[in-house]
Amino acid sequence: MLTNWNRNLRPLLGFGTCLAIAAVAVLACDSKVEPEPEPTGSKPVELSTDEHSDYPPTAVLRTMRELKEDQALERHPSDGGGRAWLEDGPREVEISSRHTWTITYEAGPLGVAEGGVIYFMTSPFWGWEDHPQTFSSDAPGYTEITTNAEGIELESLNFGKSLLGAKVSGRALKEGELVKFKYGAGSVGARADKYFERNAKFWVSVDGDGDGIRKMAASDAVIDVVSGPPSGLWVTVPTTIDVGEVGRVALALLDARGNAWVDWLGDIVFVDVPEGLEVPERVTLSPGDRGVASVEVKATESGTYTLSARLDPPLPGAPRDFTYGSNPMLASKNAISVLWADLHGHSQLSDGTGTPRDFYRYARDVAALDIAVLTDHDHWGIEFLDQRPDLWKHIGEVAAEFYEPGRFVSLLGYEWTSWIYGHRHVIYFTENGELYSSLAPETEDPDQLWAKLKGKSALTFAHHSAGGPIATDWSFRPDPEIEPVTEIVSVHGSSEANDSPQKIYRSIRGNFVRDILDRGMRFGFIGSGDSHDGHPGLAHLGAPSGGIAAILAEDRTRESVLEALRARRVYATNGARILLQASLGGYRMGATIPETAERPLKLSLRVVGTGPIEAVDFIRSGLVETLDCEGRTELFLPLDDIELDSGDYLYVRVRQTDGGVAWTSPFYAD
Ligand SMILES: [Zn+2]
Ligand SMILES: [Zn+2]
Repeated sequence: MLTNWNRNLRPLLGFGTCLAIAAVAVLACDSKVEPEPEPTGSKPVELSTDEHSDYPPTAVLRTMRELKEDQALERHPSDGGGRAWLEDGPREVEISSRHTWTITYEAGPLGVAEGGVIYFMTSPFWGWEDHPQTFSSDAPGYTEITTNAEGIELESLNFGKSLLGAKVSGRALKEGELVKFKYGAGSVGARADKYFERNAKFWVSVDGDGDGIRKMAASDAVIDVVSGPPSGLWVTVPTTIDVGEVGRVALALLDARGNAWVDWLGDIVFVDVPEGLEVPERVTLSPGDRGVASVEVKATESGTYTLSARLDPPLPGAPRDFTYGSNPMLASKNAISVLWADLHGHSQLSDGTGTPRDFYRYARDVAALDIAVLTDHDHWGIEFLDQRPDLWKHIGEVAAEFYEPGRFVSLLGYEWTSWIYGHRHVIYFTENGELYSSLAPETEDPDQLWAKLKGKSALTFAHHSAGGPIATDWSFRPDPEIEPVTEIVSVHGSSEANDSPQKIYRSIRGNFVRDILDRGMRFGFIGSGDSHDGHPGLAHLGAPSGGIAAILAEDRTRESVLEALRARRVYATNGARILLQASLGGYRMGATIPETAERPLKLSLRVVGTGPIEAVDFIRSGLVETLDCEGRTELFLPLDDIELDSGDYLYVRVRQTDGGVAWTSPFYAD
């Protein structure tokens, strides 16, 4: 049973984090493979020990070398030849259900030489768990490999992962001859992805000449994986609203894994609507809605509100009057509006789940974000964007399609996935933008990348900078115009400081954001999800923490969002829609306070929590002072005598008892 999701950062969704990415990604590349490879991600980060290397100690050299070696491999013309399709089996299945599918491969004009291998692969990312295998017909994922070609023997190669090979012997496989993979042929079948995913592909790759190097073949073997039964209702109201203004309440039934677009018919009924709020009494969902709706809300009086709704009929097993609560909404006159953004997430075009369109649909209609960016990897996943201009073009087209000035801001972006200097996101505020690869010699270091972006409507930000898969090399000092903000928290945890709640794994002392501020760099703080499960804005449903950014932009346009980010008018949370308002000496958060400003400074802080607030920390140039909040959900504080010396910074961190955390951007004193 699902309880009050909006208030609780850790609902009953104990599924894994994305640490598995590193473990499988190299195997997933279009690369040279050996049977039973060593899992690459299970080892701790390898700090560079190569004396002759110019690389920073934070570099993950092994991964970088593997990618470079792979890129340099020469593919034989017969590699990747032929095509595959879905011969038999269901084309639409529910998440985690078990089935049998037959994928047929037909050899291309150059055939497959003796010793060549045809590989069958399910997505190694996000949710396909039953690895294809030929050793036990009683175990999940059992696969039968057959051929119609006389004189051909197929030897199966088990990799113990999502990859299975069929090695050709006896003679070469000729054009038009077929090899079939019956996946899930054993007694327990094979289980589909646990995430909603249209266009989920069964991949086939071919080493046509038998030299151990393979390439993806064309595959039309795709199925749609649809959500499971609904397990709760997600209710999102705007965090801020002007009195008299009309806002939007987003309503979405989700399954137990946070997937949307479920099968449900009935009414959503608002209960105990507070005085001062106007919403329709009920909303009737029809089959085409797939459990997703939106209604208007209007505040007629100032105040802090939440909305509750029940389902009619209730979900099976839930009490009739069970209600689902929303995040809080502050109604005031001339409110500074908080727009919610997730500037980082992945789709099936790199190492995530789902299509780019479904990514934006989820961001806008389910997670009720105002701003979202799909940032697939430049060179990571199954196919690589830096080698597939058609995919990069498609991402741009989808971002353009979803951009609705005044309502929803989608942006073109990607993850510059450097295993030497750390991962950075490149975001364009224009319709077109180039993909500068972290593996291209002319854009392989941050200075080279920034030189290309200089003067453009674009920005970058560092991600999981204190540790995680790779920490950021801060010896490259960002240009504040191009990199005004930095990510504090995502599914990988928090890079803020060593004392941060939900601290990032494999953190490196001295590399936290607070350490970087101590070295004089200035950033605004954002959270970004790094969702790979197709749930932008709600990455925290599937991990101990997620990340979203509150952007204090004038309106929902690309220009306003860029302006607010450059002015650092942003704050970060680990997923909870906490309201933070802060000003220091009359300056808004993120501001630089001039030397001439009158001292001491007065700080005003307003917090509206999504749950009881445990404490508020004031961090002034490395020193932390804590205010115990005894579980209050709202806080309004004036602090009169704040002394900031030239070069100091001050920011506020709010910790809730349920694990929700928010960080203001720092104020910087000149
Ligand atoms: Zn990353
Ligand atoms: Zn990422």
